[in-house]
Amino acid sequence: MPVRMVIIGGGPGGNTAATYAARLGAEVTLVERDVVGGAAHLWDCIPSKTMIATGGAMSFSKRIEGMGLSHQDAILDLDAQRKRVQEIETHINGQITTLLQSQGVRLIRGTGRVKGPHEVVADTDDGIEEIVADAILVSTGSRPRIPDWADPDGERVLTTRQAYPPSTMPEHLIVIGSGVTGVEFVHMFSSFGAKVTLIVSRQQVLPSKDPEVAAALEDELLRRGVKLFKGARAESVEVSSSIVAVSCDDGRVARGSHALLAIGSIPNSDGLGLEAAGVEVDAAGYIPINHHCQSNVGHIYAAGDVSGKLPLSSVAAMQGRKIAEHVMGIHTREHRHIDYEKAASAIFTEPEIADVGLAEAEAFATGRKIRVTKVPYAAAAKALINDDPGGFVKILSDPATGVVLGGSIVGRHAAELISVLALAVTANLKVSDIVESCLAHPTLSEALADAAE
Ligand SMILES: Cc1cc2nc3c(=O)[nH]c(=O)nc-3n(C[C@H](O)[C@H](O)[C@H](O)COP(=O)(O)OP(=O)(O)OC[C@H]3O[C@@H](n4cnc5c(N)ncnc54)[C@H](O)[C@@H]3O)c2cc1C
Repeated sequence: MPVRMVIIGGGPGGNTAATYAARLGAEVTLVERDVVGGAAHLWDCIPSKTMIATGGAMSFSKRIEGMGLSHQDAILDLDAQRKRVQEIETHINGQITTLLQSQGVRLIRGTGRVKGPHEVVADTDDGIEEIVADAILVSTGSRPRIPDWADPDGERVLTTRQAYPPSTMPEHLIVIGSGVTGVEFVHMFSSFGAKVTLIVSRQQVLPSKDPEVAAALEDELLRRGVKLFKGARAESVEVSSSIVAVSCDDGRVARGSHALLAIGSIPNSDGLGLEAAGVEVDAAGYIPINHHCQSNVGHIYAAGDVSGKLPLSSVAAMQGRKIAEHVMGIHTREHRHIDYEKAASAIFTEPEIADVGLAEAEAFATGRKIRVTKVPYAAAAKALINDDPGGFVKILSDPATGVVLGGSIVGRHAAELISVLALAVTANLKVSDIVESCLAHPTLSEALADAAE
């Protein structure tokens, strides 16, 4: 009899696990209350990057004189933008559904919960269905954190889910939160021409990133006229007919037309009946997992944001794949545990930012000896051809062996270029392996090769 796997939540974690497990021979049932693709496709990665791409086209159109073209202002059409976001989402969700169906995954549209160690219940429009499972995966994701001092109305005070695009274009947007999500929204709306104020609770935007990388972004935000309220924590949001006022703990008040909350997320682990199967949940609501993504109950796994690891779509999908392999008992030499330290990540701002592996600050903090090489983008002819020479590539390697330990890229296409360093870090390649790759010319990758010298 095939292994019966039941998955609750069809985001990147759940749908990737479903596809792989079915491909490996499991009988898979996926319970999803909304759309497969998950919040990642409906609210997070896809709509935000779609709008950022439009913002990028708008900001590029403002500086096309540098390319030898005459200038004409681009005008944002909110309805066309909304349609574009929806069309892309529908297309991608259709692709995922087709893939799941082609692998024989049974899709149930409904709300799932755990009823017992081997039972999942799906609450559907047609009634309650009980499904028996040998293995259960909880991949229910997370939702935006809403503080008790703010009451998003979806019109003037927005969560990230209400901004694709909002019903009216903000004239002056106050973004609360300067992590990855916050700065992406700052970039998006300032590219559209809105004035933006960013509330930064620390002294640096992107507090968890390399200070040099964060400084490059801060410089660009200031150049664009974004106002930074550094060292300030928002405490209240008040809405009047013409103004949204955000008061901070240091007495400053930011006034604008709209406010957007980007202060993190909370896991969707409530109401799932996890206690019925003895699954532990930590104080913040995450399901702790081991290196196989198993909860404290061996045949019940967690993937994605609800697992409390790196909240990235790419990580959720990798966890889903590894879980499928583990459920199916695949322990080949090819099966490696996920090394979260080696996950690449990107921030889709201007300049674009991407990094992977060890960070300089981390190496200094632990006293680890490293070799750091840095090359400006302008060293590559392609950066000049693109009329976009700002940015740099930084590579961290082991001084004794030359093995690449990490790196950061700031500048156009950084999110694409980081894949070279991600491969190097994952496969323990040396800087000399990068130098000896005969790259195409003229390309931005040449800056990578120079930084590896
Ligand atoms: C604005 C924003 C932009 C982002 N951009 C990026 C990016 O560019 N790149 C990146 O890698 N990451 C990005 N992220 C993070 C990424 O979206 C998440 O890490 C990712 O969605 C996590 O995937 P997941 O599988 O855990 O869950 P989700 O994508 O959240 O999917 C969970 C699914 O479970 C379903 N569900 C929940 N409870 C139940 C239930 N009881 N029964 C049935 N179904 C249920 C939900 O409907 C949902 O479809 C972004 C996040 C935000 C907020």
